[in-house]
Amino acid sequence: MNPKTQSLPTGRPPQKRRKQKKRGKKWTAILFWLVVLAVLGYGLFRQIDGTKADLRQMAAAGNTGGESSDEGVSAVFGESAKDKTAWNLILVNREHPIPEGYDVELTKLSNGQSVDARIYPALQQMFDDARADGVYPIVASGYRTEKEQKQLMREKIADYEEEGYSPDEAKAKAQEWVAVPGTSEHQLGLCADINADGIHSAGNKVYEWLEKNAHRYGFIKRYPADKSEITGTIHEPWHYRYVGAEAAAEIYRQGLCLEEYIETLE
Ligand SMILES: [Zn+2]
Repeated sequence: MNPKTQSLPTGRPPQKRRKQKKRGKKWTAILFWLVVLAVLGYGLFRQIDGTKADLRQMAAAGNTGGESSDEGVSAVFGESAKDKTAWNLILVNREHPIPEGYDVELTKLSNGQSVDARIYPALQQMFDDARADGVYPIVASGYRTEKEQKQLMREKIADYEEEGYSPDEAKAKAQEWVAVPGTSEHQLGLCADINADGIHSAGNKVYEWLEKNAHRYGFIKRYPADKSEITGTIHEPWHYRYVGAEAAAEIYRQGLCLEEYIETLE
């Protein structure tokens, strides 16, 4: 403090002191909130980092441990390559709607999309490895509620009607692209439409990488070009479905679609 102002005999110095006190308080408050924010920020960072590390460990256990590793994952999530009633082999298509009251525990991704929490470790590992190969995928669409699926269908029908199709034609056309609500794998949370991020890599590069590698992480291309008659869905190079590493390897090796694979289990 300035000793000169202290010795002034007018009424001003106390006022000034008050002002200085106030300013000091303001700075203390700012500093306080900065510290609080820093602590909160660090805590959050640690938490996210920790979760990621845990999931990496889980995914690594499923991908690098050889034959016994698949049992390790099964022990955690109860998946099976032989039992068609296992959660990872649930079949949903036009003939097989989602069971009533189907429940799903979701993990939210950083871009706002969600997937079944059980497939997240494998998905994350797959994306990490793709990026290491210079390919940058994103989940364009993961889990959808029945309501969202209905909305998607309404929009697609409206698009076709706008193009001049009759309501019936528009509905039929839309169903070629959008699964009838209640029959979409997206309502299971076990699949993801995977595209390129549009910055680092193009769509085709991502599709090629997935086609070659996805089965190693338990994912299959659900609607291959040569299986449309069986799946009832046109070729979708972006739609990947989780079935578990063992089933995916078998499906990939034999060139099957999920419908065909499940039949081999009967
Ligand atoms: Zn899809």
